[in-house]
Amino acid sequence: MPELPEVETVRLGLNQVTLHQPIQGGAVLLDRTIAHPLSSEFIDGLIGLSIREWHRYGKYLLAKLDPVGWLGVHLRMTGQLLWMNQAEPLQKHTRVRFFFEHDRELRFVDQRTFGQIWHVIGEQDPKTIITGLQRLGHEPFSAEFSDEYFYAQLQGRKRSIKTALLDQMLVAGVGNIYADEALFLSGIHPETLCADLNPRQAQRLRANVIRVLTDSIAARGTSFSDFRDVSGVNGNYGGIAWVYGREGDRCRTCETPIERVKLAGRSAHFCPNCQPPFSQAVRKP
Ligand SMILES: [Zn+2]
Repeated sequence: MPELPEVETVRLGLNQVTLHQPIQGGAVLLDRTIAHPLSSEFIDGLIGLSIREWHRYGKYLLAKLDPVGWLGVHLRMTGQLLWMNQAEPLQKHTRVRFFFEHDRELRFVDQRTFGQIWHVIGEQDPKTIITGLQRLGHEPFSAEFSDEYFYAQLQGRKRSIKTALLDQMLVAGVGNIYADEALFLSGIHPETLCADLNPRQAQRLRANVIRVLTDSIAARGTSFSDFRDVSGVNGNYGGIAWVYGREGDRCRTCETPIERVKLAGRSAHFCPNCQPPFSQAVRKP
């Protein structure tokens, strides 16, 4: 599933190739990909509009349209936005096509079909149409995601810190890969209860969440799963991952085999030596 660094990588790519050229047409190959308006009205409503700039809110991509409106995309599990020539053969899971001049095309390919696309028409507020935007917490790179805010959100909570990091209302865009990585760098076991973390640990964890996201954006997203950037290229983050996807491999710091546990239905990867359970951590001198 694309997380924040992958969506950011897609955004940067889209801003390089899709701006300031009118949408000339397109096709909807799977009706339910279009969340708004009716799929039959979708392409006609976009013709003649161009994209001024792509923004990202959590894992939502939002294109500001010229002269007015927004185009919203959520990739969900397997969505890909690919920039290619219209003549290139359709991928099996092609769902929506946007045609541009010089026979260029922005193609939405989505195997699992959970991806969604919205056209917010006219001066409407995107949040009223793309209601998921209302449920997003602070951006990890924003000033609002401060040490004080983060610690306050953890205090007194009886859920595990791994589960908390995946909560999009606490912080937007962090998923399984980068939550595991940030916990490793912070020496925190994923099953530690939020309430058991002290302010220093919370501070370190917040810094490491930002660090792993920044590192992965620099690596152009993850090499795990079927993530592709707009030119169809896989990212490079997997080669430098500390724990994610490395069950049984040796810890890069202490050589202990990396372990994996199920936590709230998701896999958590960790080093049992570098990330001791809370009860052992407090007994350590
Ligand atoms: Zn280790």
